Amino acid sequence: MRNREELAYSRALVPKYNTLYKVIIAILIVVIIALLLIYFGVIKPHLSSNNSGDKAVLNSNLLSELNYDDISYEREIGKTQMKIDYIDNCTYSISYPEIGVEEIDEKVLEHARTLKTAFLSEYQNSEENANTFQQHIDYKSFLEDDNTMKLTFVEILSKNEEEHVSKKEYTYVYDLLTGEELKADIIFVSGDNTNEFTPLNSEITEDFLILYSGDIIKFALTNVNIREHPNTNSNKIGLLEEGEAIEVRSGDENWDVVVYDNQTGYVKAGYLSRKRLLHKDIELEVVERGIDPSKPMVAITFDDGPNPKSTPRILDTLEKYGVVATFFDLGQLVNSYPNIVRREEAIGCEVGNHSYSHKNFNTLTDEQIQEEMRNSENAFIKALGHKTVLFRPPYGNANLKVKENVEYPIIKWNVDSLDWKSRNKNKILAQIRQISNYDGHIILLHSIYGTTADAVETLVPELLNKGYQLVTVSELAFYKGHTSLKTAIDYNSF
Ligand code: ZN
Repeated sequence: MRNREELAYSRALVPKYNTLYKVIIAILIVVIIALLLIYFGVIKPHLSSNNSGDKAVLNSNLLSELNYDDISYEREIGKTQMKIDYIDNCTYSISYPEIGVEEIDEKVLEHARTLKTAFLSEYQNSEENANTFQQHIDYKSFLEDDNTMKLTFVEILSKNEEEHVSKKEYTYVYDLLTGEELKADIIFVSGDNTNEFTPLNSEITEDFLILYSGDIIKFALTNVNIREHPNTNSNKIGLLEEGEAIEVRSGDENWDVVVYDNQTGYVKAGYLSRKRLLHKDIELEVVERGIDPSKPMVAITFDDGPNPKSTPRILDTLEKYGVVATFFDLGQLVNSYPNIVRREEAIGCEVGNHSYSHKNFNTLTDEQIQEEMRNSENAFIKALGHKTVLFRPPYGNANLKVKENVEYPIIKWNVDSLDWKSRNKNKILAQIRQISNYDGHIILLHSIYGTTADAVETLVPELLNKGYQLVTVSELAFYKGHTSLKTAIDYNSF
């Protein structure tokens, strides 16, 4: 039996015990929720999108060992480590992540060392050693998907603490499961049913292609020969087809050094690009006017007009023989002489865009190219009520940057009359007469010279007598089997 005091004590304790239980249960619930949050919030998402069971288990084990200490927007993965040192006139500070996967950590450290060594070998005890040099390396790290991480080293070199020398970024990609360093050709996979390469991750952009040791995946801009030596007459070791990807090791301004079929080869500079060009189809609209596709045809083209003196003379000749040609006109002259451009179209000729002010597009910035095109398009729309289908770049110059910025098929030529050079009727004709078969050809002339207008008076009946149908560029393409032309592609003939 308990005495009264004990009973009173135990009674008094009952509510106290109840409160304690509640507190303990509440703490347990909080702990369980916290554990569940950690479990589902950190590990579960990496598991959920993974279909392979074994892989998922392996992956979750791996990820649980990874270091997440420095989670921030730019540093999704890795525990930040740092090395700072001073050697002679050089200072370096390198931040890098420790991931927790031995193979990756070794490689990351190796890359950091390589950058440091390159810096020291260039600047340490250099002739400029009255100066001090600083290397600052920072990093950004991203989890690209369950298995892949991307690391970018940002290297900033400066001189005497304040003078900027350079800023470079180096990006590396690792497979978290295997610890392997991935190359761009592994990052890119074939799309469904097409030969299009599509990045695995939408965030993979251009800088993703700059991979370690300077190897860059480039795409062929056109069919191009891979040669044995940097010599245009050397043996071909292969043909790289347009859009095909190839690894570029190094190169100079004239040649890209590529690896092809386990051989080192050379591709002339300008034929490869880090970006794969997108080609849009531009439909050709051709009015039926009795062209016989089985008979030979040729397209005469006139650049740089309209000119108030010579262009109307050329139009008179074309009208006289009931034939057509293509005029690649300049936007600023179209604004000056809209009636001549309207007459070109009225007699069945094709009008193409030759830019606004005839700048060398290869030397322009993206914005300048777009401005030229915008201004010239506006001029054509104002004069004709519509844009042109075709574009001929001034000087025929259309490098990669131009092709990225101009949404037109690029029409060049394969018969150059050199009329701008000779300014002589007979020389112009002699130049064109060197060709024995014009079928499918595009002849280049300029509508701004009286001598060219003179030559056309002879050239047109001569071509008709030889049995050629004189057609526009769009007609030539159409009757030679193209119902559409692709943007960012050069066409020299059909
Ligand atoms: Zn021109």
